[in-house]
Amino acid sequence: MKLVLPETLRAQIVDAARAAHPAESCGLVIGTRAGDDGAAASLHPARNLASRTDRFEIDPADHFAALKAARASSLSVIGCYHSHPNGVAQPSATDLAGAGEEGFFWLIAAGGDVAAFFYFTGRLTGADLVTSSS
Ligand SMILES: [Zn+2]
Repeated sequence: MKLVLPETLRAQIVDAARAAHPAESCGLVIGTRAGDDGAAASLHPARNLASRTDRFEIDPADHFAALKAARASSLSVIGCYHSHPNGVAQPSATDLAGAGEEGFFWLIAAGGDVAAFFYFTGRLTGADLVTSSS
């Protein structure tokens, strides 16, 4: 499984993580998915409704807007991204508990880098993140 992410979007995720620090940034990934491979086309930043700084909770209104925007471009919401201000680019127990959509990509920004995971059969498994120049 792999996710192709344009370098500009990777940089956008890292910048959002820096801007939100010490809280977590979050948003949705719009693109296409074929089987367990995906390609990101754009990002849809979302408000983080979590009251704790070590949590994220995407505003449902932003999620809905992302779904509408994706559909308007014949694309899908293929994943989400958020940051770990503690610098650990691994899904937390809370992330796993909050994951529910099979075939969803999870991008985690930590320490200036981004790591990708793929949710299926109840697990968040590491996925290859391929950055492209476009
Ligand atoms: Zn997390």
